[in-house]
Amino acid sequence: MPQKIKVAVAGARGRMGQEVVKMVLQDPELELVAAVSPSAAGVDAGRMVGMESVGVQVESELETALRISKPDVLVDFTTPQTVLHNTETALKYGVRPVIGTTGFTPEDIERLDKQCKELGIGGLIAPNFSIGAILMMKFAAEASKYMPHVEIIEYHGDQKLDAPSGTSIKTAELISEVRQELRQGNPKEEETIDGARGGYYNGFRIHSVRLPGVFAQQEVIFGAFGQTLKIRHDSYDRAGYMPGVNQAVKKVMTYAGMIYGFEHIMD
Ligand code: NAP
Repeated sequence: MPQKIKVAVAGARGRMGQEVVKMVLQDPELELVAAVSPSAAGVDAGRMVGMESVGVQVESELETALRISKPDVLVDFTTPQTVLHNTETALKYGVRPVIGTTGFTPEDIERLDKQCKELGIGGLIAPNFSIGAILMMKFAAEASKYMPHVEIIEYHGDQKLDAPSGTSIKTAELISEVRQELRQGNPKEEETIDGARGGYYNGFRIHSVRLPGVFAQQEVIFGAFGQTLKIRHDSYDRAGYMPGVNQAVKKVMTYAGMIYGFEHIMD
């Protein structure tokens, strides 16, 4: 049997992190070697996710965990504030980052890509690991060629830290690559309440709804004479992201450079 891929998980006690820990423990091709989450330090990682004890204690500090456990891959679902530092720490130890946390600038991604290439290792930053969401983005970009008047509405739980979502920004980027230059709406438009028209991106708008009870949804709405088209994706469960994360952990072992977007490695 080929060697198992050694995986560390940052944000292991988080909502996404726990799903990643379970996914890794359930795949015989993967081995959980470290789990990092300050609030669960000292707890067995298996027990933390309601499974059998696995003999991997959750650590409070990423750098120590990486130095001791020497993983092949770090999966990060932490916070926009910590993820850049975590990614740089992984590269410092030659560990391939698979990043689900949002919050990178294009300059960050370019710099990390250069670093990965210099080190000869792969990495992935994916604002969304779900196949349905990737298809929603692709279809939206395709539609924007023919219906360039577009607005994005994204819906998430009220505890989400960043707005707009990484997925909506990625959608807007893909649309902008193919949509004709166009500043939508009435040029004399004025907001009587600040933010009423949403965030401005390259001629169109992104709206962020934050409500308890909502998980993750996005609608891309196109308008033309006498018609609208809506492309909508709904996520109901965090487990839905795990086939994508699993595929990414295996794929980053096979190339050099930091890829941005799961669609580029999707089979
Ligand atoms: P969450 O439940 O709040 O979990 C975040 C975790 O990060 C917490 O458990 C926290 O640990 C941990 N953390 C904070 N600082 C850390 C550090 N320095 N080192 C290690 N762990 C640290 O959040 P979530 O819902 O899982 O989401 C996490 C991120 O993933 C968000 O940015 C979200 O937008 C993104 N996300 C991405 C996708 C995708 O497909 N790419 C899907 C869903 C969510 P403690 O609890 O121990 O303090």
